[in-house]
Amino acid sequence: MKDLLGGKGANLAEMCKLGLPVPPGFTLSTEVCNWVRDHGGRYPRGLRTEVKKALERVEGDMGRRFGNARNPLLVSVRSGARVSMPGMMDTVLNLGLNDRTVEGLAKRSGNGRFAWDAYRRFVQMYGDVVLGIKARKGEHSSPFARALDDLKRKRAATEDTDLDEKDLRQLVKTFKGIVLRRTGTPFPENPNDQLWGAIGAVFGSWDNERAIAYRRMESIPDDWGTAVSVVAMVYGNMGATSGTGVAFTRDPATGERRFYGEYLMNAQGEDVVAGIRTPQPIAKLARSSPQAWRELQAVQSMLERHYRDMQDLEFTIEDGRLFMLQCRAGKRTGFAAVRIAVEMVKERLITREEALLRIDPASLDQLLQPVFDPAAIQKARSAGRVLTRGLNAGPGAATGMIAFTPERAVAQTAAGKAVILVRIETSPEDISGMQASMGILTARGGMTSHAALVARQMGKVCVAGAGELEIDHERRRMTVAGRTYKEGDWISLDGTSGDVIEGKVPTRPSPVIRELLGRRGKGRADPVADAYHSLMRWSDSFRRLKVRTNADQPDQCRTALALGAEGIGLCRTEHMFFEGSKIDAVREMILAEDTAGREAALRKLLPLQRKDFEGIFRVMGSRPVTVRTLDPPLHEFLPQAEKDVRALARSMGIPTARLRRKISALHELNPMLGHRGCRLGMSFPEITRTQARALFEAACTVARKTGKKPRPEIMIPLVATAKELELQAAEVRSSADEVFRRRGMKIPYLLGTMIELPRAALTAAEIARTAEFFSFGTNDLTQTAYGISRDDAGRFIPLYLDKGIFPRDPFAGLDEEGVGRLMEIACAEGRASNPALKIGICGEHGGDPASVDYCHRLGLAYVSCSPYRVPIARLAAAQAALRSPMEKN
Ligand code: PEP
Ligand code: MG
Repeated sequence: MKDLLGGKGANLAEMCKLGLPVPPGFTLSTEVCNWVRDHGGRYPRGLRTEVKKALERVEGDMGRRFGNARNPLLVSVRSGARVSMPGMMDTVLNLGLNDRTVEGLAKRSGNGRFAWDAYRRFVQMYGDVVLGIKARKGEHSSPFARALDDLKRKRAATEDTDLDEKDLRQLVKTFKGIVLRRTGTPFPENPNDQLWGAIGAVFGSWDNERAIAYRRMESIPDDWGTAVSVVAMVYGNMGATSGTGVAFTRDPATGERRFYGEYLMNAQGEDVVAGIRTPQPIAKLARSSPQAWRELQAVQSMLERHYRDMQDLEFTIEDGRLFMLQCRAGKRTGFAAVRIAVEMVKERLITREEALLRIDPASLDQLLQPVFDPAAIQKARSAGRVLTRGLNAGPGAATGMIAFTPERAVAQTAAGKAVILVRIETSPEDISGMQASMGILTARGGMTSHAALVARQMGKVCVAGAGELEIDHERRRMTVAGRTYKEGDWISLDGTSGDVIEGKVPTRPSPVIRELLGRRGKGRADPVADAYHSLMRWSDSFRRLKVRTNADQPDQCRTALALGAEGIGLCRTEHMFFEGSKIDAVREMILAEDTAGREAALRKLLPLQRKDFEGIFRVMGSRPVTVRTLDPPLHEFLPQAEKDVRALARSMGIPTARLRRKISALHELNPMLGHRGCRLGMSFPEITRTQARALFEAACTVARKTGKKPRPEIMIPLVATAKELELQAAEVRSSADEVFRRRGMKIPYLLGTMIELPRAALTAAEIARTAEFFSFGTNDLTQTAYGISRDDAGRFIPLYLDKGIFPRDPFAGLDEEGVGRLMEIACAEGRASNPALKIGICGEHGGDPASVDYCHRLGLAYVSCSPYRVPIARLAAAQAALRSPMEKN
């Protein structure tokens, strides 16, 4: 029912059905929200009558009347979309209070202070959410918060709880004065008016800026809408036997199976979440409220078994009696997601398939996130650089320069700086700054505070509630342990222990990564690393797509193999030329005046290139290795700085002026579409011949020395016509034959092409007569299908995303409609003319989960991606196979 009732409404209804203690209430569906949005804020006919009837039933269940002065029913009006959007939309609590009903509440509860506190909270919340009374530009907080602070100062009160009933009565009066001043109308006393005001505002909050920004970030469609749940209020702040809390059925940071959470006695839910008071660990509830604790234990295990997933619970204890206010699948870190899913399979709660489908492949990134360099952190610790410890809200290690505002964090990050966002506490307005930062540090708030929840979801390192920090946002300073830090100073966060460390501490790969690379020292196996291995094994057993890597150095190949790569899908040979003395030989080759000059340079390059290929074949053993002939625009290799030009002229023995003339002759207006790819091979076939010779000689050598069977696949880039491929293929084949003849052995190999130009896709049938394989170069195919320069796209793609012209950056997520259509044609026509044709992808999209899914549906043989994305692609490929099973081919 989530689509209709929102997550909150559906789960409340489900908990009712399970017989759990839930306060009575009703839900206005997401359909109403969409109707209201389509009809300029009007409500569908009959809604008011239905709400009235539903409210009467709640009155009956509670034995209280809405607006009744002696025994008033009070309600909360809560937002709730299909998926949880924490803190993005609005909620109004304590609704139904006015100057008369507050007296009834005071009498019924026997606690006047409590009643007036509820009333002042209501006026404040209603004023903010429904009447839109917020801090104005230049003001630090809302007028309500300031009035509260003023009064506390006058009374020398440190906590809100230090204010007495008389103070709160006065505060309500002051708050109502603020409402009258800011809106020109008195605060609505009629509970029905209040109710409809709140319903309208909560529906409206679906379209507030925060919610819209969040939807963009999470790709949530605008037309889902929010539901509104109206639920009878129960109170955690009625005195010492009342309380409220938030709990998880397993640890949301590490995934450990233990009941985990926080509570506060004599408090309302917002106190726990907003981080105004620091809550107690849940285990202590056994002493504060033993009966409620026992019940809560039973409820939590029942809910986890019922939903077969880790649950996030909100509860309130009203005078010793437990009420469940909410339950939903708990947000969790990538670490926790993997561990929980795998352990639930072992506990027989879910199947392997369910476990695989539950994990967002992109979240595996977190498991591979860096940790501190152990020696450096040890040194920092013994030098007394640990300033304080907060809560370990988001695991991982981060180091960066302090920014006190989200705006600064965004700007500094854009300028290429590593940033740590430091805030007293965060709010939904800080989202973009949090997203931009390496890590987040807050002075206030618990494990369930906004900062903690959001950081965890983003996979950001976060230390929350470091109470010893004194942060002065105005002067942009922070004092801790007697030392003061300003914006731009370096700090480091250990999101796993909660430590805040002075200065920069270098980071290094995570334990999972180190274990995978065989660099784990002695010690206990890491439970997350164990779970990760199981998950990857299961992925491999379900997926049909093979996963290869894009790598051009032996150490990259080793990393990729450890992460599960099954071969190389793209070795960009030009990348091998950038290092050391090779670049000079390449420059000589490019700038040679004639074939003889070029061949002289190529003779220097041959042994270097052969050694590179040998290194790769040794690591890759008998796995396939796709090597691409030279591709890039030549200007990338040319010296620009005057001193480099002079040095090159000297080594080539030609005058500097001549070299300069040659360089400017090679200048292109649009090098990405210029003399690159196989066009280089057309002009200089000797380059292709030399590369092929180096490759086959290396393969022969490694085969002979290691007994392995190297499987070279040689690939021609940027082909637009079958003729280009035929000519290049002839060069490759004659080089191969010559090497095999001289070496007296044969290495089986494949010869294929990249499909990265629309014309190649459209004439695939003809190209496939020569090609034994196709590899989609979707970076160039996207560039050429859209006519958008890869190198200049950054300027306007953000705008296109903002305006919703592109649902996603097409260079990150494959455009199925356009680029995908070209791929479809190439697959169908290529296979028709050459049934043995093998097809893969090696553009950036090969590591993007949604694109991997598309490649599975196209029936490709493999995807190829950068080494660290290999695990993501393995899981994404398994999910794709589970979602759309098809015959193995
Ligand atoms: C491509 O175009 O998708 C590709 C893999 O090649 P490159 O990025 O090197 O142009
Ligand atoms: Mg390309």
